[in-house]
Amino acid sequence: QARGAPPYLSGLNPEQRLAVETTEGPVLVLAGAGTGKTRVLTSRIAHILSLGKAWPSQILAVTFTNKAAREMKERIGVLVGGAVEGMPWLGTFHSIGVKLLRRHAELVGLKSDFTILDTDDVVRLIKQIIQAEGLDDKRWPAKQFALMIDGWKNKGLGPSEIPEGDARAFANGKGRELYSAYQNRLKTLNACDFGDLLCHPIRMFRAYPDVLKEYHAKFRYILVDEYQDTNTAQYMWLRLIAQGSKNVCCVGDDDQSIYGWRGAEVDNILRFEKDFPGAVVIRLERNYRSTAHILGTASFLISHNEGRLGKTLFTDAANPEDAKVNVHASWDSEEEARAVGEEIEQAQRKGHNLNDMAILVRASFQMREFEDRFVTLGLNYRVVGGPRFYERLEIRDALAYFRVVAQGADDLALERIINTPKRGLGEAAIRQVHDYARARDISMLDAAADLIQTEELKPKPRSALREVVENFQRWQGQIDTTPHTELAEKILDESGYTAMWQADRSAEAPGRLENLKELIRSMEEYESLRSFLEHVALVMDAEQNENLDAVNIMTLHSAKGLEFETVILPGWEEGLFPHQRALDEGGRSGLEEERRLAYVGLTRAKKNLHIWFVSNRRIHGLWQSTIPSRFLEELPEAHVDVVAGGDSYGGYGGRGGGYGQSRFDRADPFENTYSTPGWQRAQQNRSDATRNNWGSRSGAKVERIGYGETDSVLGAGRG
Ligand code: ATP
Ligand code: MG
Repeated sequence: QARGAPPYLSGLNPEQRLAVETTEGPVLVLAGAGTGKTRVLTSRIAHILSLGKAWPSQILAVTFTNKAAREMKERIGVLVGGAVEGMPWLGTFHSIGVKLLRRHAELVGLKSDFTILDTDDVVRLIKQIIQAEGLDDKRWPAKQFALMIDGWKNKGLGPSEIPEGDARAFANGKGRELYSAYQNRLKTLNACDFGDLLCHPIRMFRAYPDVLKEYHAKFRYILVDEYQDTNTAQYMWLRLIAQGSKNVCCVGDDDQSIYGWRGAEVDNILRFEKDFPGAVVIRLERNYRSTAHILGTASFLISHNEGRLGKTLFTDAANPEDAKVNVHASWDSEEEARAVGEEIEQAQRKGHNLNDMAILVRASFQMREFEDRFVTLGLNYRVVGGPRFYERLEIRDALAYFRVVAQGADDLALERIINTPKRGLGEAAIRQVHDYARARDISMLDAAADLIQTEELKPKPRSALREVVENFQRWQGQIDTTPHTELAEKILDESGYTAMWQADRSAEAPGRLENLKELIRSMEEYESLRSFLEHVALVMDAEQNENLDAVNIMTLHSAKGLEFETVILPGWEEGLFPHQRALDEGGRSGLEEERRLAYVGLTRAKKNLHIWFVSNRRIHGLWQSTIPSRFLEELPEAHVDVVAGGDSYGGYGGRGGGYGQSRFDRADPFENTYSTPGWQRAQQNRSDATRNNWGSRSGAKVERIGYGETDSVLGAGRG
């Protein structure tokens, strides 16, 4: 290592250093998990900045999640001694897309205060369009068409560009027409969906080459993390922008491509070398994250995949004291949660931080059991990623009110709450407003303001509508004068929304009121109502109160790029992991993507790795006896210990109790687990012991970040 090299360089190995110091021209870093790809990107930015090659605002850096963007920003700050005054263009593809669009909205027919619709809004809008076409929306479900549109947008295809076969596949050949009606409707609403955040800029860059040139001049250096999970539209976007300086550095790992189901294209890795001739390709082979047991386990598992670019991985961190990977069995998911809870408490007693532990689930419904258990134990946890806090019913309602106040043309938001709480606006009245608005191509709120001046509505709905219109006009008038949290509270009070839940006698109502309070509190961190709403629209991995020591619970998908001292992987059973849907839909490629997901899970662990499977699981309300995941049989014996199952009845004794056997028979690895006396004891004791602790739900500090009501089996983060 050169003498006098700055600290961010001297700690790197030669290949990493090459990747950092090759600042000019295209660079592709292709390397396995934990080899320091993200660290290379961070050091590279620090290097560029400290050599004065570019200002922070001239660097475009793309991460997979907002959380990763924040972390990267922090680390760069540390490396260059806090001299980074913000990196305005460090973020996810989507957040960078919003920024571009806000600047140039008019070039794609929007206004700069456009609304970003979420999936729910999109589906409702599409349903209206399908109905307006006189089609049966039961035969042609809006949800299905929303997925088709999303698929097209992932490929960067507008209505005129979709293949004929695709267009024919929906609504008797009306696919193209409907897609185009949807895009027109979005324009009228001054709104766009997630796909548009990429597709609009692409279209804009193509139609306005001088605008593109501006950005060519602006972005001197371009960096992309988790490159293996870019989709075609993202790649097109990147290629357009990177053709300027050509100083583009992408890092990725084909074995960690886990978003194929959402349009990610591993082939982008191969395309890179074609589209950027002369690209320097660097491979990193040393893993700095995990013990030899963990790395050996992960490498062996992934070697069962056929479609791989292939690479070697090694670690110097082989220590005879390192624990092997542990596989545990339990009777059902209640017991699994109970045993995991005890395991965590034990670790905590030994001085481990909860922050350093993570439970990574395949499907978000698995979380509830752990949440319930941890609440009972008084164990702090946070749910990261996946369906969010903001997706809860009451939060969505409140946000709908705020959205109409911030952007009066947001009809979808208005429709959501126009009669919530109930104020006597029936479907007929709402349809009248709707038709009036459509006929004149104005927003529903404007239509309502017109309609209340006429005799067209019956007196009761008219006075109800008058109150709605006057309320919104008043709140809109206060947006610049009243602090936004105060205004938000006012809106919920004056609309009767808070009162509605106060009057509600259901068991959930108190929780909903608490959530609304939490919503207002979370707004304090933002400057204005608009910036808050933008945050909500974008944020998919929000965190609050990072200071609380808490166990992390998240889906495998949202764990990408992260690392933890201890990782717990529950639910390794056929049908859950690998997931049935992936098996049904994807054949071999579906299974291989599941295996990559397992590889991602295994490689998150630094020191301790625990895998669990249960014999019985309730999936969507039905008890099913389960078969251990085939992935368990793909683990190398040399690195794995099968420890006794969770004998939680006399306290989780850990090794030696429960299921009796501590090592499985290779021929039929899990037979023992199923047939030992422990299994029967488990069954007998279930009713008295397992059920007991469910009552008390207090004591734990719970951070709820996400995990709303949405039933998303494939729960995942989003960039
Ligand atoms: P993933 O594929 O999971 O995203 P990655 O390749 O991005 O992994 P990093 O997260 O950058 O890997 O690094 C993994 C761990 O190894 C981090 O804790 C990082 O700080 C550490 N690390 C990376 N390079 C070095 C090095 N040269 N010396 C010491 N530690 C390193
Ligand atoms: Mg990384």
